[in-house]
Amino acid sequence: MTKISFLGSCREVGRSCILVESNSGSKCLLDYGIRFNNDNRLPLKADLSNLKSIALTHSHVDHSGALPFIYKTHKVPFFTNSISLEIAELLIRDMIKISKFPYPFGFRELDLLRQNSYFLKNGIRQKIDDNFFITFIDAGHIPGSVSILLEVDNKRIFYSGDINTQKTNLINPANYMDVPELDALIIESTYALKEHPPRKLLEEKFIEKVIEITENGGKVLIPAFGVARSQEALLILEKYNYTGKIFIDGLARKVSNIYLEYPEFIKDIKAFRKILKKAEFILKKKDRLHVKKSKGVIISPSGMLKGGAAIDYIETILNDPASAVYLVGYQVEGSPGRGLLDTGIFEFKESRKKKNMFNNFQIEAKCDYDYFDFSSHADSLHLYKYVENLEFRNKNHNNIFCIHGDNKSTTTFASELVKKGYNSVAPEIGEIYKL
Ligand SMILES: [Zn+2]
Ligand SMILES: [Zn+2]
Repeated sequence: MTKISFLGSCREVGRSCILVESNSGSKCLLDYGIRFNNDNRLPLKADLSNLKSIALTHSHVDHSGALPFIYKTHKVPFFTNSISLEIAELLIRDMIKISKFPYPFGFRELDLLRQNSYFLKNGIRQKIDDNFFITFIDAGHIPGSVSILLEVDNKRIFYSGDINTQKTNLINPANYMDVPELDALIIESTYALKEHPPRKLLEEKFIEKVIEITENGGKVLIPAFGVARSQEALLILEKYNYTGKIFIDGLARKVSNIYLEYPEFIKDIKAFRKILKKAEFILKKKDRLHVKKSKGVIISPSGMLKGGAAIDYIETILNDPASAVYLVGYQVEGSPGRGLLDTGIFEFKESRKKKNMFNNFQIEAKCDYDYFDFSSHADSLHLYKYVENLEFRNKNHNNIFCIHGDNKSTTTFASELVKKGYNSVAPEIGEIYKL
C-alpha cells in the first residue's frame, strides 16, 4: 500500500507538509513549512526513518520555513529550483533573525539545506528510489512555484501546492494540460469559497486611483508582500504607463533584485527591468525622510502592515488627506491591515527582539484607504474548473484531498466535490490514507 500522511496545513493555512510512503517503506516529504499562530509551529512529528528526499513547491515560509529542522537529523537530497532556494533562504534567515520564537534550528541547519539541494527543471522525471519518482510542474503561484507529481508503486499522486490558473503580470498560470491521468489529487483550498473580482477591472480601478492621488501631490503606500506581490504591483504600474515616482523599500527591494538574477522564471523580464530602472531603491533608513517629502508610490512590505519598512511610512501617510494606503493582498482577521480596512483606524503594537524597541500607536486614517485583491491563488471558480479538467485513471478511485484553507473552505470544497462524484475529503492533521 502507498501511504499519504497529512502532517500540516489541514483545515488551516500554515505548516504545509505531506509524507508519502511507498510499499517498500521509502519516504518522500513534500514541503516542510511553519505557521505563526501558536507554539506548535512545525509540522506534526512523524517517523522519518527511510526518508529518501524532500521536495519543495515554493519559497513561502508556510511551505519552506521549517525545512532546516530536517537537516538536524537527516542528510537527504532536497529537490527545488534555483529561485525557490534563494528566496526561501532569504525568508528563513530573516525569520530566524527577527523572531522571538525559539525555532529548534538555526543557520547551521539552513546551510546544510543548501548543501543538500538539487535543482530540478519542470517536466523532468527524477528518481527518488525504486518505483518512486517526482516531477515538477508549473503552478503559476509565484516565480519558481511548482506542483509535484509523484509516481510511486505505479500510482500517480499530484500535489498542487499553492496554485494559480489565472493570468497575472509576473508569471504564467498553471495549466491542467501539463498534468497526466491521476490516482489521487492533493489540492489547496485557500479561496475555495471566494471569487476574485475580474482582474482587468481591478487593475484599471487601482491605476486610476494611484494616478489621481500622485498627480495631486499625494503619496500611495502599497504595503505589499515582498515576495511576488510587490513585483506584481510594479508590473501593473508599468503596464499602465505610470510615470510618477516609485520607491521600493525593505524585502520588496531584496526580492526584486533576486528576480533580476533569474529571468527564466519571470514572464516579461524586459518590462520588469524597465520598471525597476524607473524606481528608486531605498537602501538606508535616513533616505526614507526624503521619500516622506516626495510624491509618488511607495512599495514596501509587510503586506498586512504587521511590521517591516511600511511601518516607517505609515504615520506620514495616514495623517495626510492627499495620500492613500492601498492593500493588495489578503488581510487576515486581527492584522493591522484588516483593522484599517474595517474601522479606518490603524493600530500597531510591536516589540523588536534585539533592539528592545517598542512601537505602539493608534491612528485614525485621514487618507484614502482601499483593498485591491491581486491574489496569486486560484479562486473558487478556477479551483473547480481546474479539478474538473483533470483526468483520473479509475473513475471509482478519483481521490481528492482538500488542504491549505481554513476549516470551512477545506470541508466545503471536499463536500462539494463529493456532490460532483469525486471521492473527496478534507483530511485532519495526522490522518493517514492508503491508496
Ligand atoms: Zn504560497
Ligand atoms: Zn501556502
